[in-house]
This record gives sequence, structure tokens and C-alpha cells, in this order.
Amino acid sequence: MLDQTFTPHGKHLIAGDWIASETTFQSEPARGPAHAFSIGTPDLVDRACKAAEEAFWSYGYTSREERAAFLDAIADEMEARAEAITEIGTQETGLPEARLQGERGRTTGQLRLFAEHIRKGDYLDRRHDAALPDRAPLPRPDLRMMQRPIGPVAVFGASNFPLAFSTAGGDTAAALAAGCPVVVKGHSAHPGTGEIVAEAIRAAIASCGMPKGVFSLIQGGKRDVGQALVQHPLIKAVGFTGSLGGGRALFDLCAQRPEPIPFFGELGSVNPMFILPEAARARGAEIGSGWAGSLTMGAGQFCTNPGIAVIATGAEGDAFVAAAKEALTDAPAQVMLTEGIAQAYREGKARFDGRNTVKPVLTTAQEGRTARPNLYETDAASYLQDHALGEEVFGPLGLVIRVSSDEERSALARGFEGQLTATIHMDAGDTRAARALLPILERKAGRVLVNGFPTGVEVADTMVHGGPYPASTNFGATSVGTLSIRRFLRPVCYQNVPEGVLPDDLT
Ligand code: NAP
Repeated sequence: MLDQTFTPHGKHLIAGDWIASETTFQSEPARGPAHAFSIGTPDLVDRACKAAEEAFWSYGYTSREERAAFLDAIADEMEARAEAITEIGTQETGLPEARLQGERGRTTGQLRLFAEHIRKGDYLDRRHDAALPDRAPLPRPDLRMMQRPIGPVAVFGASNFPLAFSTAGGDTAAALAAGCPVVVKGHSAHPGTGEIVAEAIRAAIASCGMPKGVFSLIQGGKRDVGQALVQHPLIKAVGFTGSLGGGRALFDLCAQRPEPIPFFGELGSVNPMFILPEAARARGAEIGSGWAGSLTMGAGQFCTNPGIAVIATGAEGDAFVAAAKEALTDAPAQVMLTEGIAQAYREGKARFDGRNTVKPVLTTAQEGRTARPNLYETDAASYLQDHALGEEVFGPLGLVIRVSSDEERSALARGFEGQLTATIHMDAGDTRAARALLPILERKAGRVLVNGFPTGVEVADTMVHGGPYPASTNFGATSVGTLSIRRFLRPVCYQNVPEGVLPDDLT
């Protein structure tokens, strides 16, 4: 175990060296001392990208076992800094200690899962069409195919997951597993957490003898850092987790490049939850208080936060709303991740307060960087006519949409935009209604779940954390689970390439 006292020095990590810039920004921790962090520049981005490209010529050709050992070593180095990571992470984000500990376990577990995944080798999707020299009218050549790493990858983490969706989070783990060097744009909400995790990666690079350019972290502080990174000609793909506005701006820059590159943006979502009639009658109140728990978890700052509940008009829906209101009334104020997010929450709430098509069920006053839950109600017709009601409010705000028939429920479901998740609460008597809903929801969401809450995202082979736009910018991809490695691979066909020349993984 290393010394667990940590004071950030505020530098960028570029190809193994900690480098300071002339100008700095101050962190804005929820508690504890603020620190000065170097502001990134396009010049530093260029250095990091060139080092990443140079590293690719060796790292991209390492064996799967070498990369797996490297991923395991990063996980070990994070565990060796466990307490220091928790301390700086809780200071910067205001998230509780248990959350940071859990998220660290998830992050190291994710790194180790990718190590195991590439050891097995299935992800290479190796195929072989043997030569048919006697085929008429034309012979068939020998054809082999497998997935190869694409080159340097840029990664942007989100404010609300300082570990699992940040410096050594899912995007970085997937890219490194694939064989791609990574340049991370540090998040200004948790620059010190980024720094200590980058130090863990640096230590793993040294102990595993990996090329130093395989990983760089450039702190933010100015928007031109991210813009320069996604436009750098040596970057071949971007993994992004964050807001729709930020993601869309960077996605557009990627599309406008002379060489457009894929931008894998995991964006926001309102994650609708449908409570079907039997379930509402039998346990509406129970589901209502469960929803309140999911809605307020982490101050509602989850991309999978179920912001919308759809339930029938009348008494069966009333019990659900009353129980949710009661549980939300008791929920304490929680510290939000940043001042900016608290401000955006206040603005999101004002959007609801200013509409006569929306009825307040519970409204609370917001103070400073803390948030309290708010609950509103509307009907399907009003929702479908007002696009703004379907936009994510990042925080503990819930909207109940009342429907008066199965047909109206289906029409409403069809009106939703792309979502990360969609949930059905059902009992046995709801099977017919659920069967009618499923074909609609699977067109809308990356993950459909029954009788649960979507906030927990399992890291597994089967997980899909993505969905049609605006939940993500690539409906064919996931940012969580082993399938996420596919984002940083591309298939190459080897025609008549002899054994002695083929890549090792194909022989
Ligand atoms: P954010 O404000 O979009 O920031 C994400 C990153 O993008 C930061 O590094 C930020 O830089 C950068 N950025 C944002 N706009 C930019 C622009 N116009 N040009 C250049 N860089 C830009 O998002 P956030 O507040 O960190 O995260 C909260 C959001 O993430 C919520 O909407 C939540 O739903 C979503 N989220 C999605 C998932 C998912 O898997 N789908 C998971 C977690 C969170 P700065 O550091 O300079 O601000």
C-alpha cells in the first residue's frame, strides 16, 4: 500500500512526463481545499497525439497477454492508491465515500474484465474462407478476417462518474484492451481525481514496459482543448460521456474533419418507466416509493435516472403518485457535482414551473449547490406536443405522465426519442400489454428492463449502454460491457497473405 496522502500538483501527463502550463484554473471542490491545475492547450494536445501515434506502432502490436497484464496492473495501481482516490474524489464531487469506493471497485473490475476478455480472444471475430483453387469459373483466394485496433483514441469522461466513466474508465479500458493508445481530456469537475488515476496508469506503464505515449492526460480549463483533440488528424475515434449539448458540439466537429472519425457519444436520457395496470393496482404505492429512491440516488445525477413515469389516470395511478410524493418529500437536500450542474437543475425546474400544461405535485426551493427533489404531472397529449418536456433534467426531478388507455400508452411510447433504458413494471395480468409495448421500446432504448429501476448498470458481456440518438451518437455501440471494445476495432481482410506474414493472432 502506498502513502495515502495526496495533494495534486496540477500538471498534465504527456507521454510519461508531468508537464505544467503557464496558466492555471482553480478546482471547485464540494469540500476541502481548491487546487490550481494547468490549463490544457492545443500544442499539448498535439504533443500527446503524436506520442500516441508513435506508441501505436509498438502497442498496437503487443500480444493480448501483454495488454491483459497491463490492464491488470492499472487496476492494481488504482487499488494501491485506494484511500487517496476516495479522499480526493469525495472532496471534488461531493459524492459520498461509499459511492467512490464502489465506483473504484467497478472501475478496477472493468479493467480486469477486459483483461480476461482479450485473453479469450473471441473479440477478434476471426474468420477464414479457405482457398478454393479449383472453383469454376473463378478460383477463390484464401481469405481471413479479424478485428484490428484503429489507432489513437480520445476519451472524455463525465462529471458524475469520476472513476468509472473517466480517466481509467470504460472507454479507456476498452481502447487499451483493443490495442489503442489513449489521450484523455481531463474533466474540470474532478481534475485531482483524474491526476491520481493518471499516476496509477503511469506506474503501470513503467512496470509493464509499455511505450510511454500509450496514455496521456491533458487537463481542461478551456474548451479549445477538447475541440483540438477531436480535430487532431492522428485521433481515429472519440469516446465521450457527457451532456447532449457538449457531445453534439464535438460530434459535429468530428463529422466536419477532412477525415471524419466516429464519435461514440454517450449522452443524457430520461429513461421512461411504464407502470402497467395490474402492477399499478397491486403495488402502485410500492413502485412509487421505489421510484423516488431511484430518482434521488446520487442527487439524480445518473444518465440512467428514470425521470419519467407513465401510469394510468384514476385511482390506480393516484396511489403511485401519492407514494412517490411522500417519499420525495422526506428526501434530504443533496450536494450536486458542480455549481454549473446545480444551476442547470434550477433552470430545468423553471422549465416545468413555467408551463400550464404541467401540474406541480411537489416543488422545492433550491439553494446553492444543493438539490431537492421536484415532481410534476402531465398528460400524454401535452407531453407529445411539447418537445422540451422530454429533455433530460440532470437531477432529482420526476415527471408523471397519465394515460387513459392502452392505445394512448402505445402512442406515447412511440413519441419518445432514443433512450439508454426503458422500464416496464408488470404483473402476470399485464403480459398482453407488455407484449404490445416491447416492440416499441426496443426501437427506442439500448436496454429494456422489467420490474426494476435502471440506475444500476451491470458491467457484463450482455450489457448495452447506449441507444438511438439522442441517448448516444451511435446506436450500434455500447459504452459499458465487453462489447464496447468493438468501437475501437475495425475489420481487416487478409487475402492470400502467407502464414509467415499474417499477424500472430491469425496464425
Ligand atoms: P459535459 O458538460 O458535456 O462535459 C463532458 C466533457 O465534455 C467535459 O470534459 C467538458 O469539458 C467537455 N465539453 C462539454 N462541452 C464541450 C464543448 N462544447 N466543447 C468542448 N468540450 C466540451 O457533461 P457532464 O456535466 O460532465 O456530465 C453530465 C451529463 O453526462 C448528463 O447529461 C448525463 O446524463 C451524461 N452522462 C451520460 C452517461 C452515459 O453513459 N450515457 C453517463 C454519465 C453521464 P469541461 O471539463 O471543460 O466542462
